[in-house]
Amino acid sequence: MPDQPANRKGVPQARHAHLLMSGGARAIDSLLPGTLSELLAAGAHQHQLPHHLVRCRSGWLSRRLAGSQYLISCSRSLVDWVVHRQVLANPKVVLREATDVDALLGDRAKVTGVRVRDRNTGEQHDIEADLVVDATGRGSRIQHWLPALGVPEAREEVVDSGLSYATRIYQAPPARLRTARSSTFSRRTDARSRPDRDDHSAGRRPLAGHPVARGAANAGG
Ligand SMILES: Cc1cc2nc3c(=O)[nH]c(=O)nc-3n(C[C@H](O)[C@H](O)[C@H](O)COP(=O)(O)OP(=O)(O)OC[C@H]3O[C@@H](n4cnc5c(N)ncnc54)[C@H](O)[C@@H]3O)c2cc1C
Repeated sequence: MPDQPANRKGVPQARHAHLLMSGGARAIDSLLPGTLSELLAAGAHQHQLPHHLVRCRSGWLSRRLAGSQYLISCSRSLVDWVVHRQVLANPKVVLREATDVDALLGDRAKVTGVRVRDRNTGEQHDIEADLVVDATGRGSRIQHWLPALGVPEAREEVVDSGLSYATRIYQAPPARLRTARSSTFSRRTDARSRPDRDDHSAGRRPLAGHPVARGAANAGG
């Protein structure tokens, strides 16, 4: 793990602007108490949303947000770094760096562990486990690993949001950083004349914990 917030090869989406919604922030904080205050102490910004907010996107009203909600704005690598530190503070947790999972162990009745490979030496060895959780993200090889145990491929549900993102990082003048705020601008697409098109939005975010810069602008649609 990097010794400070930094982008990692396995998480290419971290280069794009990320926001942490209050529901997610509370969930992380209930599992790892102190995470939110550590993020804020590291420079993350907390933006209060209007009470009982309802949003309208692509012609649909979102569910009314209960009570008081907020957004945490900082780099994705800062969130990862703080969460990793909190998890590793638990002496029962062991981190194996530069290690890839190559395969599952077990048979069609039960997964009993994983086969891992050291990225530096290429050496493989097995780790037995009572419970194996696949947290390898979108590029997971689970659809290859399960058939290798004789288990039929899992049924997959794919929801394509059709959303595209572009992000650019800027170095803000130091004076502007003290008062930096997140902002988002949306352009509503006429759903009747262009039902195939979604809304477009653009935003700018202060980026505490980014390795090289202090602000991101992004556009999506
Ligand atoms: C453009 C974009 C913008 C987004 N914006 C937001 C946002 O604003 N807010 C938000 O909450 N979410 C956002 N997301 C979604 C968010 O990035 C993902 O939902 C989230 O990263 C998924 O988390 P994960 O832990 O499942 O996987 P990941 O974060 O992708 O992590 C997978 C991990 O598994 C490791 N790994 C992969 N294969 C192996 C292997 N074989 N062996 C060992 N390790 C392995 C990788 O190195 C990585 O560390 C955005 C996504 C994108 C693409």
